[in-house]
Amino acid sequence: MERDVDVIIVGAGGCGLTAAIAAAEAGASVALLEKEDRAGGNTWLSTGSVPAAGSRFQKDAGVDDSPETMTADLLRKSGPHDAEDTVALLARQSAALVEWLVDDHAVDLQLITDYKHVGHSITRLHAPAARKGEFLVKDLVAAAERLGVEVITGNPVAGLIVEDGEVVGVRVAGERIEEYELRAGAVVLAANGFGGNREMLSKWIPEIAEAQYFGAHGSTGEAVAWADELGSPLANMGAYQGYAAVAYPHGSIVSWTTVEMGACLLSPQGKRMGDETVGYSAFAPVVSAVTEESWVVLDQRIRDYVKGNEEEFADLVGIGGVVEAADEAAVAAIIGADETTVAATLGAFAQAAQGQASDEFARTDFGFGALQKPYFVVRSIPALFHTQGGVMVTDTAAVARADGTTVPGLFAGGGVAAGVSGKDGADGYSSGNGLLTAIGLGRIAGTSAARVAAKG
Ligand SMILES: Cc1cc2nc3c(=O)[nH]c(=O)nc-3n(C[C@H](O)[C@H](O)[C@H](O)COP(=O)(O)OP(=O)(O)OC[C@H]3O[C@@H](n4cnc5c(N)ncnc54)[C@H](O)[C@@H]3O)c2cc1C
Repeated sequence: MERDVDVIIVGAGGCGLTAAIAAAEAGASVALLEKEDRAGGNTWLSTGSVPAAGSRFQKDAGVDDSPETMTADLLRKSGPHDAEDTVALLARQSAALVEWLVDDHAVDLQLITDYKHVGHSITRLHAPAARKGEFLVKDLVAAAERLGVEVITGNPVAGLIVEDGEVVGVRVAGERIEEYELRAGAVVLAANGFGGNREMLSKWIPEIAEAQYFGAHGSTGEAVAWADELGSPLANMGAYQGYAAVAYPHGSIVSWTTVEMGACLLSPQGKRMGDETVGYSAFAPVVSAVTEESWVVLDQRIRDYVKGNEEEFADLVGIGGVVEAADEAAVAAIIGADETTVAATLGAFAQAAQGQASDEFARTDFGFGALQKPYFVVRSIPALFHTQGGVMVTDTAAVARADGTTVPGLFAGGGVAAGVSGKDGADGYSSGNGLLTAIGLGRIAGTSAARVAAKG
């Protein structure tokens, strides 16, 4: 069969870029097609945090971790689901993955030691120094370019070319380009999930379909639909990552470290809505069920701690998104709630933090302890970050069929693949699950696609 290139990769986010690096490193020629005008997708918007168990960075920091502990942590948070084999696979490869990116491809990933975040019993998230996915994307693009792979932006893939049941290429079509076909020995779907597709959200995750979508516009689900049409079973389709507090109207993440250090969230009525320490994703539907906007209440110690460690939060402080309130009356005035209610809520919260009373929502972790005046308040909204359901893949990231065979020539990773955050809802998401499947499966998919292309 004539081919234009060995491997085609659809989408240049974390998954596609990592797949491109792995495929090129294995000697394949690669076409990396991106429909937007810039590489990055959701990965650019993320904090770039990737979990890895047993990395040398952990060892240097005296952290004793293992793939078994990581697998147990993720499954404890997610509960049973359809992609449990993927959890163990990615946990086993996670340390080598991070070390490969850092050592062989000059990607800046450092162990985060000032917080563990949701779902992890141990310090294992690795992120760029600035904790911004933008830097992860830039490093991955540079690494791909060093291997001779350019991101071909503005080239949306419109469909797969399938001959005799085998995927042999893609059709590219967009408003600004003339339609063309590209043929290859293997195709990797790295186009993320369907967070930007209201119709698919209404079908698969109605509970969050009306929430603000805070991810990249390119996540419109077409790659999931193509694999579905080829007979790949879809799995974990009801699972997603939400975020309980995106600063409004500033549009940046209110770091959950604020909650881990002792902040709480108040409704417009001045009441708490639940135990915030269930995590930023699990708490998103709790907030959505009560209100369209809420307020994160913290104090100066928390503000300064997070500002000192996290650039995005420092930026939020810099642009006035974290507002000082001298006392409960000032908090009430900012959020427009009844002063007595706010005073009662914050009083009860302080008593629970000091161990003088049990918390109304059974919260037991209060970080620095009871909030101290002056308070600081951030107006926020809950949001959908990305979907976690997708196509089933094998341990080579090949797209599986229901009968146990695979679709010849087709591989997938990242948001296209069934995720590791449970079957349904937002509460199974552990920090880093998104990039774990993006970068972890991306590397496996790129290597496998190059191998298949070399044989053909
Ligand atoms: C604000 C925010 C913070 C987050 N923080 C974290 C975090 O710290 N850690 C973590 O693990 N996860 C995090 N996530 C989730 C994480 O960003 C995603 O799970 C991950 O980036 C998905 O990677 P991906 O490569 O699958 O998709 P993306 O990075 O979205 O890349 C997919 C690319 O494919 C392109 N594309 C789509 N369709 C086509 C097509 N038809 N043709 C060509 N190109 C196409 C898109 O434009 C996009 O560029 C966060 C998400 C958000 C929104």
